[in-house]
Amino acid sequence: MPATKNKNWVDFEALKRNVSFLTILEHYGLVGHFKQKGNKLTGKCPIHKGDSSTSCHIDLEKGAYRCFTRCKSMGLRGGGNILDFVADMEKFGLGQEGIKRAAKLIMEFTGTGQGTVPLPAGTPRPAPHKPEPPPENKPLAFSLHLKTDHPYFKERGITPETVRLFGLGLAEKGMMTGRIAIPIYDHRGSLVAYAGRALDAKSAEEGGKYKLPANFHKMQVLYNYHRAKDFPTLILVEGFFDCFKVYQAGFLNVCALMGTAMSDFHAGLILKTFTQVVLMLDNDPAGRRGTGDILNRLYDKIFVRVVRLEGFNGASQPDQLSERELAAALAFLKA
Ligand SMILES: [Zn+2]
Repeated sequence: MPATKNKNWVDFEALKRNVSFLTILEHYGLVGHFKQKGNKLTGKCPIHKGDSSTSCHIDLEKGAYRCFTRCKSMGLRGGGNILDFVADMEKFGLGQEGIKRAAKLIMEFTGTGQGTVPLPAGTPRPAPHKPEPPPENKPLAFSLHLKTDHPYFKERGITPETVRLFGLGLAEKGMMTGRIAIPIYDHRGSLVAYAGRALDAKSAEEGGKYKLPANFHKMQVLYNYHRAKDFPTLILVEGFFDCFKVYQAGFLNVCALMGTAMSDFHAGLILKTFTQVVLMLDNDPAGRRGTGDILNRLYDKIFVRVVRLEGFNGASQPDQLSERELAAALAFLKA
């Protein structure tokens, strides 16, 4: 941020440009609080601490948030950019002073352009934020009895052996009823959740293509880590089905991010476990952004190789490739 002569002036535009919403969420320990789908986050509104699990939407690309339930009626902004969000989180009040104090706080915790905004006289300093401990996924106290012979598997090219190994099947009871349930184990090998894959457009629209329990923190789990951890090389993909297809191509050393974002927890686990990483995210805008971000964070710490899915008849994600094509794309690992 350029230094300015006028001490009362702050470059709000530069601040919005340079500080991502994820940085703000990280500051408040809220990264695992939201469900992510591409650049969109959804979760309980952390500002008014409430109600439904879809009350707050954040668009990472636009750097914008909106509370769809109570914030506005509680006299808060209830939407806007990172400055509005921080002003609401800190209850700095409406108006330009609230925005200035939010900017000051953001500059303090990101270390950008420190001290260019004087606090209005007599304003109490905001209490320093205490980061919350990272959320934990508790082991499940039950396991689902699943029907393993559903035709969906064959349609997706998933073999009975894969169904058995990954413990997949149709749920006929509970919140995953009518969905293909995918058991999720944490890094210790404890069952912590089931993801439910919708089988038709209607249930995908109602509960999402993948349904996950509201208290599940996907940033704290690297899917299939407990089976991959004894290999030196990790193949990192986005989704469950990418994972299954890479396994069928001959590689059990594959983990899924369940999205395109690598959390600090994921990075720590990867760095302490593996000696090299093969990145094979989807070849679409979100996947390419994720690849760039992960490369930036890992390249000077571990050997990273990127597999770009190009030239496979337009297939843009690993689960659309045949086992033979995947084996060819990863042949360098067997050489
Ligand atoms: Zn709200």
